[in-house]
Amino acid sequence: MTAAAKAPGNLFVLSAPSGAGKTTLTRALLAADPRLRFSISFTTRPPRAGERDGHDYFFVDHARFEAMIAANELLEHAAVFGNFYGTGRAQVQAHIRAGRDVLLDIDWQGARQVRQRMPESVLIFIMPPSLAELGRRLRGRATDSDEVIGRRLAEAQAEMSHWPEFDYVVINDDRALALATLQAILAGRGAACRTSDPAVRRLAAAVIGGT
Ligand code: 5GP
Repeated sequence: MTAAAKAPGNLFVLSAPSGAGKTTLTRALLAADPRLRFSISFTTRPPRAGERDGHDYFFVDHARFEAMIAANELLEHAAVFGNFYGTGRAQVQAHIRAGRDVLLDIDWQGARQVRQRMPESVLIFIMPPSLAELGRRLRGRATDSDEVIGRRLAEAQAEMSHWPEFDYVVINDDRALALATLQAILAGRGAACRTSDPAVRRLAAAVIGGT
């Protein structure tokens, strides 16, 4: 008698505009569930202060990145703010085959490719409670000039316009509540946040509309 095949793990994709709190929520999700695996992306962006290769990203040069694309080693890839980012295919697939859930922190372009290649993946979009609050959060990063903040806000709005392509929307107003909501979605109990729900659609549209 052969052992029963293990049920495959789930692939969860988290996307958000910068300032929505995605990084903090991702860390909290991973800390709360040691079985959840995070896919460390490849990027051509130079490391920021404090970032470590193989921990935050795999930092690679353009030639290596292009070789990975040519060898079909990336599950998805995209240019974000002038740098390339991509998800390694092999590791994600190994985890999923072994029954482990995997979390990707990628932008909407990557989310769209993942949806095409792995239609069973679960796409989650995190939004700030309002554009005004997003502006406050971005301004809180005191190092940026008004011009940079204005550009980031415009980029955030462009990113947010893609929420209808996602399965779920989570509004990050109260961080503990947003975390609990994400955990419910990962546990398969996120019906209240499905983008197919008219109330969720109204809420997401209101954030973008600036009301
Ligand atoms: P940062 O440079 O601030 O770490 O990330 C910038 C943006 O790139 C974020 O929106 C992040 O989600 C996205 N990103 C990070 N890794 C990947 C990836 O592997 N693929 C894609 N498509 N986007 C990524």
